Amino acid sequence: MIEVKNLHKSFNDNEVIKGVDLSLNEGEVVTILGPSGSGKTTFLRCLNFLETADLGSIKVNDQIVEFGQTSANEILQLRRKMGMVFQNYALFLNKTAKQNIMEPMVLVHGYSVEKAEHRANELLESIGLSEHGDYYPSQLSGGQKQRIGIARAIATRPTVLLFDEPTAALDPELVGEVLKVMKAVKNTGVAMIVVTHEMQFAYEVSDRVIFMSDGRIVEEGTPHQIFEEPQEARTKAFLSRFT
Ligand code: ADP
Repeated sequence: MIEVKNLHKSFNDNEVIKGVDLSLNEGEVVTILGPSGSGKTTFLRCLNFLETADLGSIKVNDQIVEFGQTSANEILQLRRKMGMVFQNYALFLNKTAKQNIMEPMVLVHGYSVEKAEHRANELLESIGLSEHGDYYPSQLSGGQKQRIGIARAIATRPTVLLFDEPTAALDPELVGEVLKVMKAVKNTGVAMIVVTHEMQFAYEVSDRVIFMSDGRIVEEGTPHQIFEEPQEARTKAFLSRFT
């Protein structure tokens, strides 16, 4: 349902993604692990054109887009099938929690304000924040802000959700509430690609784990295969830091 082929990306002459392929089935959750600087965030950002990849293609449902030769309209069509959750939440600070959730529904997907508000209320309830719809981001904790970020990303029922280190900026005691929402999101059947350092989450929730290093996929497998029986020296060395 989602197929990325031969993705390459350089910043000037520094090639940071060196030919990555990735396929996901409907509702599949894939976690990407790897050392800092290995290209995980860049890879994710290329998928929805926040960075412009140099080469390769992405297919989501029936739409195939070749990187490097894309029209603005194609990018918009593709983005409509994706939601993204950022490490720093990326909320509009001058809009309330509810307005943040509604914004892409109305501006990108053409929902009426009434329909968007109805959906936003439903989402606020599902993430345990129905009392907080009129709060501004500055009045919310990091965990609450990230739950709003997730609600915004899932509002229009995308095919795939991209998570870029969604808990990395949080105080440790707030990580759990965000992971709990992510688990609930998985149960809705949306495909998810999650860049994270939360090993327990990767182990429990992913269908597949990818270990990336130096711009390439070094190893991939089930959580059991990667965590219990890693084959590659670089995977073993990376994981040994977490045990
Ligand atoms: P990771 O997410 O695995 O930590 P990144 O994708 O953030 O890795 O970074 C991969 C490499 O790309 C790093 O060497 C980083 O310095 C470089 N990089 C990332 N973004 C940019 C940019 N906008 N301009 C130049 N280099 C970048």
